[in-house]
Amino acid sequence: MLFRDILGHQELKNQLLNTVINNRVSHAQMFLGVQGTEKLALAIAYAQFISCDNKQTYGPEADLIADSCGQCPSCIKYQKLAHPDLHFIFPVATTKTISNKPVSSMFLVQWREALLDSNYYLNINEWYEKIGIEKKQGKIGVDDANNIIKTLGLRSFESDYKVVIIWMPEKINIQAAPKLLKSLEEPPDKTLFLLVSENHDQILKTIISRVQLLKISTHDDSVIRNYLQHNFQLDDKRMDEIIHLSEGVFSNVFKQIDSNEITNVFFNHFREMMLFAYQNNFVKMREKSNEISNFGRDKLVLLMRYGMRITRMCMLYDVGNQSMVRSANEELDFVSKFSKFVNQNNAEAIYAILSEADYHIGRNVNTRIVLLDTMLQISIEIHKQK
Ligand SMILES: [Zn+2]
Repeated sequence: MLFRDILGHQELKNQLLNTVINNRVSHAQMFLGVQGTEKLALAIAYAQFISCDNKQTYGPEADLIADSCGQCPSCIKYQKLAHPDLHFIFPVATTKTISNKPVSSMFLVQWREALLDSNYYLNINEWYEKIGIEKKQGKIGVDDANNIIKTLGLRSFESDYKVVIIWMPEKINIQAAPKLLKSLEEPPDKTLFLLVSENHDQILKTIISRVQLLKISTHDDSVIRNYLQHNFQLDDKRMDEIIHLSEGVFSNVFKQIDSNEITNVFFNHFREMMLFAYQNNFVKMREKSNEISNFGRDKLVLLMRYGMRITRMCMLYDVGNQSMVRSANEELDFVSKFSKFVNQNNAEAIYAILSEADYHIGRNVNTRIVLLDTMLQISIEIHKQK
């Protein structure tokens, strides 16, 4: 997780980055925020930055003063949530397949999937559903506490720091608490505990007293409005409705936007990408890749897939198969015009370029470079056959 892929929280991000840059990382911190806030994403981005081998710094004039590189071996492992020095503890219970002493490490595969699929917005009910324990209460028990203490006794594998992320410390049970408290109080050298929590009142006071508290707020309406204005074409009434129902939480925004609204926004971005490629205008292509590179990976993957669909439509239009062209309005207008340049001669190659971009974006390659490269390659394909 890169800081720049997380929506909002600019001040807090820089505050966190500063602790690393100035070597003031506190060994036990709690990211506290209501359900749907970016607390888990921020905790992971923080750990990734600490571990990154090629930290990028941008100086005080930039929105973000620094970020992880996203490309070093450590970052690549972080992006898969599979770094050997990153440990997770979260609530579990017995399941159909695990009937004895369930601990977090037995659920790592599902955990990684659930986090990546939810773009780190996972909530506790979704997690219980994922591991099939909807009807039970998950807990962080003494076996997990023993496990982590044992792990922390070992040398770190690759990083200076070992990081333990405890998701939902409100579920630490009474037997596990003393052991975890001892670790929080006297942590092994170069060990960082990041607790990620929703309910301050449900956490044992003794735990709270041992951590540095970071409050993750919900977003102001203006932040959500700004995001919607940049990414979707919505009329004022619809915009107000989404903002009102979102209650300052982006995961609520995503739930409300429907697929028609998404298609609209992708159309304009993809149209511009193709236009600048056609014009072979390097400056515009670079500007465009900078503009859309902070969309977040999920959305960029959707944009690439949208582009693949349009490429197919252009080819169908070109070969006279117009009844199969499933486009309307401005999209159809674009397809009919652009099929002169994207057609049976090069559609396959352009489809492959977009498909490769889709692959790379999903795997944490620098999105800005992937997007620029994609437009340049498409430009070559368009001009090859003119
Ligand atoms: Zn890195």
